[in-house]
Amino acid sequence: MDNVQLLVDLHQDAPRQGPGGEEQTRLAITLSGLKRSSELKIADIGCGSGPSTLVLADALDAHVIAVDIIPEFLDKLADAASRTGVADHVVTRTESMDELSFAEEELDAVWSEGAIYNMGFAEGIEAWRKYLKPGGILAVSELTWLTDERPEELQAYWDKEYPKVDIASAKLATLERLGFSPIGYFVLPENCWLDNYYRPLQKRFAGFLERHKKSDAARVIVKNEENEILLYEKYKDFVGYGYYIARKEQFLGSRL
Ligand code: SAH
Repeated sequence: MDNVQLLVDLHQDAPRQGPGGEEQTRLAITLSGLKRSSELKIADIGCGSGPSTLVLADALDAHVIAVDIIPEFLDKLADAASRTGVADHVVTRTESMDELSFAEEELDAVWSEGAIYNMGFAEGIEAWRKYLKPGGILAVSELTWLTDERPEELQAYWDKEYPKVDIASAKLATLERLGFSPIGYFVLPENCWLDNYYRPLQKRFAGFLERHKKSDAARVIVKNEENEILLYEKYKDFVGYGYYIARKEQFLGSRL
C-alpha cells in the first residue's frame, strides 16, 4: 500500500479530514448572505467525506457539487447524504481542484474548507474565480497566522510544510487583488481542531497501526500526525484556520 492509500485508510472513517465544525459552516453561510433556494448551485472543493457539503445542502436547500480527488471520501459522503436525507441535493465528482470541469459563471458559490492549501490560497482563488457568477460567493478556510510575530519553532515547521501561511490582512489583500470583496472573516475556535479533528484522529492511530502491522510507513504517518498535534496544542494562540468569505466583484479590474 502506498503512502496515499495509507493516508486514505487513516482518514476515510473520520467525521472530517481537517479542522472545522458544523456551527462554523453555518456561521460562514450566514455571513455570505446567501438565501435559501433550491436554485442555488454550489461547489464544495476538496470536500473530503463532506461535512460542509451536508450543511450547505441542508441549510440552503442548495444543489451541491462535491469535488475531491479521493473517491473513497466521496463514497462516504454519498452514504452520509443518503442517511441524512439530502442525497437528491448532492452529486459527487472525482476531480482535481486544479482541473475542474465547471463552466464559466456556472456557480452561485464556491466553498472549500481546509483544502485550498493543496493549490495555494492565491492559486486556488485565481483558478476558481471564473466559475462564479458575478457577485458570487467564495468561502474558504485557510491556515493563518493569528499574530504578527511567532515562535521560531512554529515558524520553521510551517516554513517547511506550507510556507504560504500568512496573517489575515495579507490573505484579505490577496482576495482584493484577485477581484473579490471580503465580506466576512473569523477564526475557527480550538474545538474545531481538537474535538472535531485531532481527538478522533488520535483514537484511530492504534487500529491503523495494527491493520498495517506496524509497518515503517504507517509509523511515520502516525509520528507526523502526532507532531502536528503537539505543535498545535503548544502554539494554538499563534496559528489557526481563518475562514474567509468574499463576493466576486461585478466588474473585472484591469489586472484580471
Ligand atoms: N473539506 C474536508 C476535507 C479537508 S482535507 C473537511 O473539512 O473535512 C483536504 C481534502 O482535499 C482531502 O479530502 C483531500 O482528498 C482533498 N484534496 C487534496 N488534493 C486535492 C486535489 N488536487 N483536488 C481535489 N481534492 C484534493
